[in-house]
Amino acid sequence: MRIILLGPPGSGKGTQAKLLSKRLGLTYIGTGDLLREAVRLDTTAGRIAKDYLATGRLVPDDLVNEMVKERFGGEHQLDKFVLDGYPRTVAQASSFDQLLRQHFLDIGAVVRLVVPDDEIVARLTGRWICPNPACQITYHTAYKPPKVAGVCDVCGTALTQRVDDREETVRKRLQIYRQMNVDILAYYRARGLLREVPSTGDIETIYNRIVKTLDSAP
Ligand code: AMP
Repeated sequence: MRIILLGPPGSGKGTQAKLLSKRLGLTYIGTGDLLREAVRLDTTAGRIAKDYLATGRLVPDDLVNEMVKERFGGEHQLDKFVLDGYPRTVAQASSFDQLLRQHFLDIGAVVRLVVPDDEIVARLTGRWICPNPACQITYHTAYKPPKVAGVCDVCGTALTQRVDDREETVRKRLQIYRQMNVDILAYYRARGLLREVPSTGDIETIYNRIVKTLDSAP
């Protein structure tokens, strides 16, 4: 099964993509995670990406496309995957199509998670993450608070907020998302791949909706 998950920041893409990966045995690729890791490790790509991430702008297509290509080399399987946060532009979508064609593969389904804007702002600005690389559990001040405020339940590390989850940056990310979204949705809709799923309610409900739309995906 080869799936692309699309949706605004805070739509639950990351959570759902990781669940799909775990339960269906799919390779998980999240470009946001890859980029944050590159910034943390201070790689060449990370140094270029850092400012884009902090201000919520899209990292240049070439850099992201190269990261995805590298990720699919070696031990990572290209024949079954779930993509989270990629492609975000038509240029990325066409680069990814080319990569798949080289392996005689195509996309099974593109699932768009749909959430109202106001709910997204509330979700993202309350999100706190454990910065411990071995843990990285996500909390939410309203929906999933830690037992002790500001401290990870599992490893006791002080929680941090992603720089791009601050309200001003969230609004900027939403604006960018809306601009880019029109084209990418049209791109996949024209190919009959697009499925829309309301991403409200609890995690299992949303997961089940996604799986239901995937029934016919290769
Ligand atoms: P995410 O975790 O998917 O919300 O991504 C966080 C940030 O990483 C975005 O606001 C962008 O700055 C950058 N980013 C992630 N994926 C991409 C992509 N496919 N193209 C360009 N920038 C990206």
